[in-house]
Amino acid sequence: MRQSQLFTKTRREAPKDEESRNAQLLIRAGFVHKEMAGVYSYLPLGLRVLENIIGIIREEMNQIGGQEVALTALQNPDTWKTTGRFDDAVVDNWFKTKLKNGGELPLAFSHEEPVTNMMRPFIQSYRDLPKAVYQFQTKFRNETRAKSGIMRGREFLMKDLYSFSRSQEGLDAFYEETALAYGRIFDRVGIGTHTYKTFASGGVFSRYSHEFQTICDAGEDIIYIDEGKRIAINEEVFNDEVIVDLGLDRSKLVQKKSIEVGNIFKLGARFSEPLGLKFKDEDGSSKPVIMGCYGIGPGRLMGTVVELLSDEKGLVWPEAVAPFQVHLLSLGADEGAEKVYKALTDAGIGTLYDDRPESAGIKFAESELIGIPCRMVVGKRSIENGMVEVKNRTSDESVMVPMDNLEGYFPAKR
Ligand code: ATP
Ligand code: MG
Repeated sequence: MRQSQLFTKTRREAPKDEESRNAQLLIRAGFVHKEMAGVYSYLPLGLRVLENIIGIIREEMNQIGGQEVALTALQNPDTWKTTGRFDDAVVDNWFKTKLKNGGELPLAFSHEEPVTNMMRPFIQSYRDLPKAVYQFQTKFRNETRAKSGIMRGREFLMKDLYSFSRSQEGLDAFYEETALAYGRIFDRVGIGTHTYKTFASGGVFSRYSHEFQTICDAGEDIIYIDEGKRIAINEEVFNDEVIVDLGLDRSKLVQKKSIEVGNIFKLGARFSEPLGLKFKDEDGSSKPVIMGCYGIGPGRLMGTVVELLSDEKGLVWPEAVAPFQVHLLSLGADEGAEKVYKALTDAGIGTLYDDRPESAGIKFAESELIGIPCRMVVGKRSIENGMVEVKNRTSDESVMVPMDNLEGYFPAKR
């Protein structure tokens, strides 16, 4: 894409009311637009990152047998009344609106109730199990604190997967499989080494759930980590559980601030029982379907990557999620740069081409702010020698690469 065509512009300053580093940088670099506190729009560069993250999550969810669906954001109040979760005293972050002809209509903060209800006509026999469905859907939550940028939206995207099993053992096995898939997602997105599977509160129906927590000072959670075993425990349950039980050694635990990037939860029959999602087992008996739910916030994940990896010059995107692979800058050598742009594009290498008549200083600073992993500079002198100057965003050293071998420089294309 030609930067001269991009409608967004970078800015020197972030809005004064923006406290979080992720939103400050993303707004300055033109990735997101702040509509109001906790509500952000994604602009072309930001959307490309979000879509890449979604793509990775989708691959991993398909890999474990998830089938993609899209449920509605407007919710049927009756379904939620059946499980007792319509009440504001039970769920304190509902957004509710009114129908013109009377009655309240809630906006989804989660989808356990509607998905359980939706599956009823399709699950009758043990032969229909196990199944797993997932979606990328907008959730609305009346969060009291919305100061963490895109990491805590009042409107935000969630990947939520729901599993339907015949037995507790079936659920346990799928739960472990999903935990492994989550590990792969966080590795691929570039935050794996900082992310810990963490014991968290299990609610009424199971002893504990697991969160995936990324160590970061911008986080709102506090966890205790065991670096050797690469597991952790959330402060919320630190005092309820004796720790020995969970295989953690109290003397070895280190307290850290962290961001909850994902959550996996055994629901058992919590929703299937009241909503009547039952199946006939092999012996003819009727049993409630045993469920699990598994969430990841792609926007929160993107914010976490920013918080964790950005530096004093700006954003730093890992290859797998970067909006483009290459940022090509023409420094008064448009003819040569055009050729390089064509060669890269023909080779299928996603390239943002800064073809604007700006100074080298401006182009370099903006390129660092935008954070594309590989920068290629075409200047008058280098092009005369048939060379392009190539530098990685995180390195201070650049190398000269022959113009006719640029493709060879990229083992992995995207
Ligand atoms: P938190 O404890 O941070 O409020 P939660 O426990 O309510 O989150 P879940 O309901 O388990 O979160 O949601 C699943 C995932 O969705 C979370 O792990 C997180 O990645 C993401 N998520 C939750 N709330 C938000 C939000 N307000 N903005 C963006 N992403 C969110
Ligand atoms: Mg939580």
